[in-house]
Amino acid sequence: MKKKILITGGAGFLGSHLAERLLNEGNEVIIVDNYFTGNKQNIIHLLNHPYCEVIRHDITMSFYIEVDEIYNLACPASPIQYQVNPIKTIKTSVAGALNMLGLAKRIKAKILQASTSEVYGDPQVHPQTEDYWGHVNPIGNRACYDEGKRCAEALFVNYHRQNQVRIKIARIFNTYGPRMDPHDGRVISNFIVQALQGRDITIYGDGSQTRSFCFADDMIEGFIRLMNTGDQFTGPVNLGNPGEFTILELADKVLKMTGSKSKLVYEPLPEDDPVKRQPDISLAKSELGWQPKIDLEDGLKKTIEYFKTIV
Ligand code: NAD
Ligand code: UDP
Repeated sequence: MKKKILITGGAGFLGSHLAERLLNEGNEVIIVDNYFTGNKQNIIHLLNHPYCEVIRHDITMSFYIEVDEIYNLACPASPIQYQVNPIKTIKTSVAGALNMLGLAKRIKAKILQASTSEVYGDPQVHPQTEDYWGHVNPIGNRACYDEGKRCAEALFVNYHRQNQVRIKIARIFNTYGPRMDPHDGRVISNFIVQALQGRDITIYGDGSQTRSFCFADDMIEGFIRLMNTGDQFTGPVNLGNPGEFTILELADKVLKMTGSKSKLVYEPLPEDDPVKRQPDISLAKSELGWQPKIDLEDGLKKTIEYFKTIV
């Protein structure tokens, strides 16, 4: 059955993939975005779709519409972008969540929150399970994002408990793929662009820190399965690829796969940069029947092909 679905942040990297998938499945999609880190290019191929509507709007201000489902993705995701205006990042996470939850309550829509593995901070439990409360510096320069997202989770669970709003919380681990912003400073976009342009590959710290990288298509499948779970399942649920790699291993793969002669250069590790990160996805497997299908090499291949067309 055709549903009317609102995607905040729909002109961003993940939002644009989600919009495309939901339209392909025959739904009506309304994209709301203020174009802070997203852009029209990401959704240009959807603009003439008869069931796609795009609205320039900032979710820190209220918004009224009738829909069946809301995917709340609006928020800059890369550290350099969310630190440009930290107060605004907090407002987007907190006031934005309040506005979207108020809307969901009024119109009785189901609402999914794009939370993050950053709620675990620099984790002391490895791999991270959903019952781990995290290790976040509340006054560091990542706090605007980490604490904003933690507060949003608290808002979501309380709208559920107090007002019976049907909520879903996805804790998203590092995700990559075509349509990442080449200038967003994230490690995969940086390394591929540097390798393709023959520039030095910037390793922050000694490169021994780890991350687990999930390809965008797998993540979108996880979002949709989570949204379609029964009302009793709210999450939070980890969504990510458990394959864990050091940053040096990632650099090595990118160099080999691009055939680049770029050199590695070492730069200081940013403040509060987590030492390791890997999702335990047992809950996603049991509740959503979900696990990633695309391994790092296949995902990097597709992402490198994309970056070749734009840089
Ligand atoms: P992105 O920056 O590409 O997309 C975010 C979108 O939100 C952009 O289009 C931006 O313009 C829009 N936006 C920002 N502030 C807004 C506001 N106040 N009002 C309206 N629109 C606004 O990031 P992404 O990688 O697509 O991430 C999407 C969501 O997933 C974010 O909430 C992010 O925190 C979360 N997430 C992403 C990752 C990842 O690795 N990509 C990891 C964890 C969590
Ligand atoms: N990183 C790096 N070089 C870069 C960009 C990032 O070594 O050019 C490191 C960064 O310090 C972190 C990891 O790669 O340890 C992932 O960084 P990203 O910004 O992609 O995501 P996050 O830190 O939010 O997981």
